Amino acid sequence: MSGTSPKLARKLDSKRLVVASHNPGKVVEISALLAPFHMDVISAAALGLAEPEETGTSFVENAELKARAAAMAANLPSLADDSGLAVAALDGAPGIYSARWAGPSKDFTVAMQRVEHGLAGQDDRSAQFICALSLCWPDGHCETFEGRINGTLVWPPRGVQGFGYDPVFLAAGSAETFGEMDPDAKHAISHRADAFRQLIATCFSQP
Ligand code: IMP
Repeated sequence: MSGTSPKLARKLDSKRLVVASHNPGKVVEISALLAPFHMDVISAAALGLAEPEETGTSFVENAELKARAAAMAANLPSLADDSGLAVAALDGAPGIYSARWAGPSKDFTVAMQRVEHGLAGQDDRSAQFICALSLCWPDGHCETFEGRINGTLVWPPRGVQGFGYDPVFLAAGSAETFGEMDPDAKHAISHRADAFRQLIATCFSQP
């Protein structure tokens, strides 16, 4: 994690914040998580910012490069999420390539099928969703946090809520996949919520 210890961490002192994502599902979830803070949230897509190439080798590196690029281009603090599904029996794949497994048409039916094919004959269906959230300022400083949730993968996919791999992910202790769960219930337990709680505790003044 590149964030400094909570005592030395930089606090967010602006009400305007760019959400450095072109993924509508993520912008919706991040906006919902930010709602109690009454921020003036603008998406990178709405600002017409270019989407940087994700050249990092970890969720943290990719979150930082996206947030830093948006913060410098918009001259505003920017928050980016880099996240994905890590499947134990696939050595952590698709991992940072989770979006790319859906191909150019961003078809997650294809991506979920690819995971399921990889799991053929495997007993271990455990997986984690991982989320790195990075808050960067125009001077390049970043505070970055990583959240996780453990679960198992079901087949066939269930539910139409959420996005990406949600219909095949059953969080530990839950009877519903993320695709079946009420969005508020997902937001309470997800990898993104876990990273978000760390971000809030470190960089935000409480609402
Ligand atoms: P990226 O962070 O933009 O590279 O894309 C992350 C990809 O991981 C998304 O396109 C989804 O496929 C997947 N992913 C991340 N978080 C979630 C989630 O909460 N539910 C379902 N899929 C997710």
